[in-house]
Amino acid sequence: AAKAAGKRQWRRFQPQLRDRMAARHDLQARLDTAIAREEFALRYQPVVDIIADEVVGFEALVRWPHSRRGLVPPGQFIPLAEETGHIMPLGAWVLRNATSDMARLQNGSRWATPPYISVNVSARQWRDTGFLDEVRRALDTPGLVPGSLQLELTESVLMQRDNHIDALTRELKGLGVRIAVDDFGTGYSSLRYLQEFPIDVLKIDKTFIDDIPQDPRQVALVEGIVRIADTLGLQVIAEGIEEPAQRELLAGIGCRFGQGYLFARPMTVEQGEQVLRRHDQRHHGR
Ligand code: C2E
Ligand code: MG
Ligand code: MG
Ligand code: MG
Repeated sequence: AAKAAGKRQWRRFQPQLRDRMAARHDLQARLDTAIAREEFALRYQPVVDIIADEVVGFEALVRWPHSRRGLVPPGQFIPLAEETGHIMPLGAWVLRNATSDMARLQNGSRWATPPYISVNVSARQWRDTGFLDEVRRALDTPGLVPGSLQLELTESVLMQRDNHIDALTRELKGLGVRIAVDDFGTGYSSLRYLQEFPIDVLKIDKTFIDDIPQDPRQVALVEGIVRIADTLGLQVIAEGIEEPAQRELLAGIGCRFGQGYLFARPMTVEQGEQVLRRHDQRHHGR
């Protein structure tokens, strides 16, 4: 009976599977075209000093404008692009455009410390032999402030460490690039890499932030992460802050930086310019 039931289920499942594979094939074909035509867009989410209440940087987040579906979020095409290798040209496009947009933002700002730009990099890009040259070219963008590029990698890269990754990282550090671990705490890597790998920043994953301050266990975890980071001389950024109570708790335990809808959603470069201009007025009376 179990077998018969299994068969019935399979028969019901099969058309769905076929639809899904067709949809995937379709998405892949459209991704090909979109990459050839560079039909992507970037949004920038401010990173905020939650104690001084200042924008210190922006994270570049890619979108795919689609005639029928609007702005397709990266969760719906980055995983496929990683599988197919499309992430290489797409990632190069992101790096080029994010740095040139940032050069523009930095020139509009009169701050002593202009905002930095943080770019997400997939494990596959990190392994790609052309990646270092892409970063070099991005750093040559006219007007880009030296030392203002940060790359976000995931714990999966740290798990696959080898001579190539270590040499690449040394080169990047030599070029003044800062390295952030994204979604910190969600991967499977050991804490040892915090000691062995030249990391500058930990981005505490949103799932740890969601239940503070009401869940004392989450509060303890976040506090622990902040303390480890302090001891190792790393910056911490809390991701996905949505509530004032979260911000207060984080400020109280010395988590200095944050990102989230409470401060700002990902925005266009023009909106970013306006945010910086308002900041200039607030802080310098101009
Ligand atoms: P991520 O790097 O961890 O980026 C944070 C995600 O959380 C972004 O989603 C952002 O819009 C969202 N977010 C920020 N603040 C809040 C908040 O307060 N509440 C909620 N609910 N969400 C918030 P997005 O833009 O959809 O990006 C999703 C993921 O896609 C990113 O996660 C990143 O892993 C990947 N991604 C985005 N752009 C790129 C890219 O250019 N290259 C690569 N390789 N991956 C990218
Ligand atoms: Mg990120
Ligand atoms: Mg993240
Ligand atoms: Mg994330």
